[in-house]
Amino acid sequence: MKQVTDYFGSLVFDDKVMKSKLSSDVYKKLKKTIQDGEELDISVANSVAQAMKDWAIELGATHFTHWFQPMTGVTAEKHDSFISPAGDDRVIMEFKGKELVKGEPDASSFPSGGLRATCEARGYTAWDPTSYAFIKDKVLCIPTAFCSYSGEALDKKTPLLRSMQAINKQAMRVLKLFGNENVTSVKTTVGPEQEYFLVDKDVYLKRPDLIYTGRTLFGAMPPKGQELEDHYFGVIKPRVQDFMNDLNEELWKLGILGKTEHNEVAPAQHELAPIFSTTNIAADHNQLTMEIMQKVAKKHNMVCLLHEKPFKGVNGSGKHNNWSISTNTGINLLEPGDTPSENAQFLLFLVAVIKAVDEYQDLLRISVASAGNDFRLGANEAPPAIISMFIGSELQEVLDSIETGNPIKSQGKSFLKIGADVLPDLPKDTTDRNRTSPFAFTGNKFEFRAVGSSESISCANIMLNTAVAEELKKFADVLEKSDNFDNDLHALIKNTIIEHKRIIFNGNGYDDAWIKEAEKRGLLNLKSTPEALPYYLNKKNVDLFTSHSIYTTNEINARYEIAQEHYAKVVNIEALTALDMVNKYYLPAISKFSNFLIGSIANKKSIGLNAEYETNTASILADASNKIYEIKRELEKSLVEKDKITDCAKLSTYLKDNVLTKMEALRTVIDEIELIVDKDYWPFVSYGDLLYSVK
Ligand code: ADP
Ligand code: MG
Repeated sequence: MKQVTDYFGSLVFDDKVMKSKLSSDVYKKLKKTIQDGEELDISVANSVAQAMKDWAIELGATHFTHWFQPMTGVTAEKHDSFISPAGDDRVIMEFKGKELVKGEPDASSFPSGGLRATCEARGYTAWDPTSYAFIKDKVLCIPTAFCSYSGEALDKKTPLLRSMQAINKQAMRVLKLFGNENVTSVKTTVGPEQEYFLVDKDVYLKRPDLIYTGRTLFGAMPPKGQELEDHYFGVIKPRVQDFMNDLNEELWKLGILGKTEHNEVAPAQHELAPIFSTTNIAADHNQLTMEIMQKVAKKHNMVCLLHEKPFKGVNGSGKHNNWSISTNTGINLLEPGDTPSENAQFLLFLVAVIKAVDEYQDLLRISVASAGNDFRLGANEAPPAIISMFIGSELQEVLDSIETGNPIKSQGKSFLKIGADVLPDLPKDTTDRNRTSPFAFTGNKFEFRAVGSSESISCANIMLNTAVAEELKKFADVLEKSDNFDNDLHALIKNTIIEHKRIIFNGNGYDDAWIKEAEKRGLLNLKSTPEALPYYLNKKNVDLFTSHSIYTTNEINARYEIAQEHYAKVVNIEALTALDMVNKYYLPAISKFSNFLIGSIANKKSIGLNAEYETNTASILADASNKIYEIKRELEKSLVEKDKITDCAKLSTYLKDNVLTKMEALRTVIDEIELIVDKDYWPFVSYGDLLYSVK
């Protein structure tokens, strides 16, 4: 039998392969580039390219591609073969250093938000040597960043790498103050837990809404949903288990640390969690994971749905972004320490995150805003749209004690003097789990739970890294000037708690009372994407990004516009799909079934029988189809109206208020009727057929 340890990472040009395939001089130089970001000279790049090509060919590869993450949210690749003419009608396999480090895809059709005029359409891709090259479908894939010729980022990786540099720079300043002499760099780490649905492919193909939009636009609940909670952690069906086994094998070959898998709350919903890694690698791996999930599902005649809300009435899917900060010496900076000085350092990083989440709650909300995720945030299953933090009762007591100066009673201990006292024992996240908080401290990391299942994790981490970098910068600015470090540190932590404790909420985030309380505290409640996106352009946020060199003002404007446009396109596609289903399927089907009933009424009456069922049902259907017809005409009108709106913010708000609402109204009538129409007449498979399609 194949051993996992033998094939794990077998398709990755990782450190082990580099060591064995590169001369020690080239290896050392490449390592220096990977660790310190030093530029690679072309002779070294040539040697690396040659070794990479030979290795890839041995494993069956014939092509290479620069693999990148444009602002579409999915990955992009354009394959080039290694072949090069060698005279005599023969070819040789070639791959040069310059092809490794830089590529020029003719990528004029990717969204650029006006950053790149089509006449100068060519962007270029640049190798990210910190994320290993790998082989996928016989193609050597080189992870790259994608920029315009004037250096503006056209992708999700470039700003992510910039945000990692920003937090590295500021965290290093803070760590110096605590005397961490051997630490030379700091990186953020992420473990994204991925939720998804699996449905049978034959059943999926009978739903145009799933095919065009990734979610069902209509569908009445089956008699059984998720109320028994028997699916959560339940026995995994053999067909799903086969899929998971294949998926794991594919992920492991790519060095992706797929670790846990289980059934989720909704029927047909599952989750995969990897072991965490450095943030840019975690982002690359999560993109690959989503792609491979979909491919492997197809092999098993299933379809993997990554949409945030494929089915109304059961839970949607998210992506828990577990986030922490680690030093190159292996210390997790969000791990409470054992000594007073480690504790002081931990508390400073902790309050930096608290301050960051409070001051930049709007950006965190924007980082997870999408048409799909709007159905999830705020519904009774996922974190609410209000960004708040959970830190747990024990840590809360510590913060209270710092704030008030009173000892911690429940622990029988005092924790008053930062830098002198040892923290009381803080239980590692086990039972005390608050699943309703969008941003929860779980012992030695934070779990940002609002990320949507189909979204790239880059955006959330760009915002998070940058916001925390900003707070660390402010802290370092104060403390570097201090001549009484312990006192000033204590004051800084205490004041930060006082000023930002409003963001901490340890209660039930699904409770209606919380909405009122949050409002009292002045926290934002941005319920939808159109409400959230304009905050992107607030001066405070523009200043944040520009001062840390994450985005230029142009880049921010571009991203804002792309997000608005994307929302508008998604809603438009959904509305057109809904109309298509109504016009060509639902209304004719209702009409046909009514005809059948009416025929039956006449027949029954002709032999003197009462036709109560037929008469009443036909009457309900007549009312319903009139109603459906009326709403769909209104919807059609709104779609014409929307074309007159040129401002992107007005357009997305209009779509939310006038188009999505009408689609929902249509759905309400149709879903009710579905329950009384003969299944043979109903044009689409039901929720029951979909949710229980994988036996
Ligand atoms: P659960 O949330 O299911 O209880 P865990 O707490 O063990 O599971 O971990 C959830 C995720 O958090 C995993 O992907 C894990 O690798 C990740 N994780 C653990 N430690 C860290 C860390 N220091 N930084 C980032 N992610 C982490
Ligand atoms: Mg979790």
